[in-house]
Amino acid sequence: MQTTKNSVETAAGPSDWFTGAVYVDAVAAPSHGSQLSASSVHFTPGARTAWHTHPNGQTIYVLEGIGRAQRRGGPIEVIRPGDRVFFEPGEEHWHGAAPNRFMTHLAMLEVDHEGNSATWGEHVTDEEYDTAPAS
Ligand code: MN
Repeated sequence: MQTTKNSVETAAGPSDWFTGAVYVDAVAAPSHGSQLSASSVHFTPGARTAWHTHPNGQTIYVLEGIGRAQRRGGPIEVIRPGDRVFFEPGEEHWHGAAPNRFMTHLAMLEVDHEGNSATWGEHVTDEEYDTAPAS
């Protein structure tokens, strides 16, 4: 048993991986045979990830606010508290806040054998982000 007190500092999401202000709190870190990585990710209005993939897929669970998510080639979907989204391994996608709302989600995935959680690509342009959501 290992208890981590509430002492790990909130980290700003790196600008290579995100557009806008994003803050990440660590929830679970891979160690000693566990591949589980989990974070609570706080997106300010309009903030979003860059396009990316996860080697073993990813589940996000919306805790607060209103967000958006999209897989490459699919419509932008509006996501709300209690919604859960699974991205398939290797499926290119992004997720973030709505333009006028904060959004917090829990992000859960299994890292690969080298410890990689994601492969990052281009930023989501304003034009891509501003496309009207399907829902
Ligand atoms: Mn993702």
